[in-house]
Amino acid sequence: MSLGCPKALVDSERILTRLRSEGYSTAADYQDADVVVVNTCGFIDSARDESLAAIGEALAENGRVIVTGCLGATPDVIMARHAKVLSITGPHQYDAVMNAIHEAVPPPETPFLNLVPARAVKLTPSHYSYLKISEGCNNRCSFCIIPQLRGRLVSRPIADVLNEAEQLVETGTRELLVISQDTSAYGADIRYAKSAWRGREIPARVTELCKALAELGVWVRLHYIYPYPHVDELLQLMQDGRLLPYLDVPFQHASDKVLKAMRRPAAEARTLDRIIAWRKQVPDLTIRSTFIVGFPGETDADFEFLLEWLEAAELDRVGCFRYEAIDGATANALPGAVADEVKEERWHRLMAAQQTISARRLREKTGKVIRVIIDEIGDAGGVGRSTGDAPEIDGKVYVRGGSLAVGQITEARVLRSGPYDLWAEAI
Ligand code: SF4
Repeated sequence: MSLGCPKALVDSERILTRLRSEGYSTAADYQDADVVVVNTCGFIDSARDESLAAIGEALAENGRVIVTGCLGATPDVIMARHAKVLSITGPHQYDAVMNAIHEAVPPPETPFLNLVPARAVKLTPSHYSYLKISEGCNNRCSFCIIPQLRGRLVSRPIADVLNEAEQLVETGTRELLVISQDTSAYGADIRYAKSAWRGREIPARVTELCKALAELGVWVRLHYIYPYPHVDELLQLMQDGRLLPYLDVPFQHASDKVLKAMRRPAAEARTLDRIIAWRKQVPDLTIRSTFIVGFPGETDADFEFLLEWLEAAELDRVGCFRYEAIDGATANALPGAVADEVKEERWHRLMAAQQTISARRLREKTGKVIRVIIDEIGDAGGVGRSTGDAPEIDGKVYVRGGSLAVGQITEARVLRSGPYDLWAEAI
């Protein structure tokens, strides 16, 4: 059972690949399984509750349960509720999970162990894949416990990342989604060490990574970029058509005071000017972001400022969270806790304001020709995503006409728009 974010999904894919390479197979339901492995999420309380409920269900239905993932970093929380689990390990502890599985269900004999690539099992459809470039994070945002759960930044050698990307493309991937906790920081821990790919030495730096990925001829979408100065280099690659014109920047707030209390990396007052400059350089740029409302100390004035900022920034895609105190996060000690009903009201106001902005931005696309990657074929045609839509989190494009296939990238003319989705005709 795989819960949590795309980074956890990649961990599940790695565990499943190792299991398959050792001759294990997966069962469709609890009754047919010898053991259940639950890859958990432990980021916010609701995710913890979901993970604990999943462990409880697996124990009730099967009885033999191995727990891994982010919630595994706090084993006492799990043991307090589910003392009967067989083993608990933290995130990306592949060897420890495998040892626990070996102990619970000894592996079948297999002579082909070394022939299976590091990630042969994918949990996403075959035409798009998450590409995880690093683990952990060196930032210390006050509301976050990811660095405690997943540790400090550990970047993968760039040749490893590129080889994996190449293999994914060879097996049908048409869109690579680059993920990490802080994509801008890639390589900082290994001093941007060079490694050899396609006969040349490439430094482990996000701009060079993107240039090399562009050689693979597929869509490349970046997630979790902080507005450091080098974003301008990425914008240049978008302008050249080498990178999708999509920036996922988790701003979290606009008020300088709140951002400082959040201890956000690269937070600065000039962000609005930079957004305007980015849009000027890449007119079809989609900017996606997330925000937290009700952070300790957020006043009415801070929130009103955030709404005004959003109106001026006209971000295309926005997710919003009500602040949740997470055990172990330093923000819990900050004064000025915001009442739940105030958080709720701010959340609704922000979402309503953003819906209007999103609808306005999408309306501007009517009549234009866009590129769409087809995710599924329904009764009324293809359902896909534009260059401005990441899977799961953004909108959809409903495409009629043409003979479409899953994974195909097609051009389509936008016929009409809604608050989040588009309707288009294939060209
Ligand atoms: S950048 Fe901040 S919010 Fe993101 S994982 Fe690192 S500490 Fe957490």
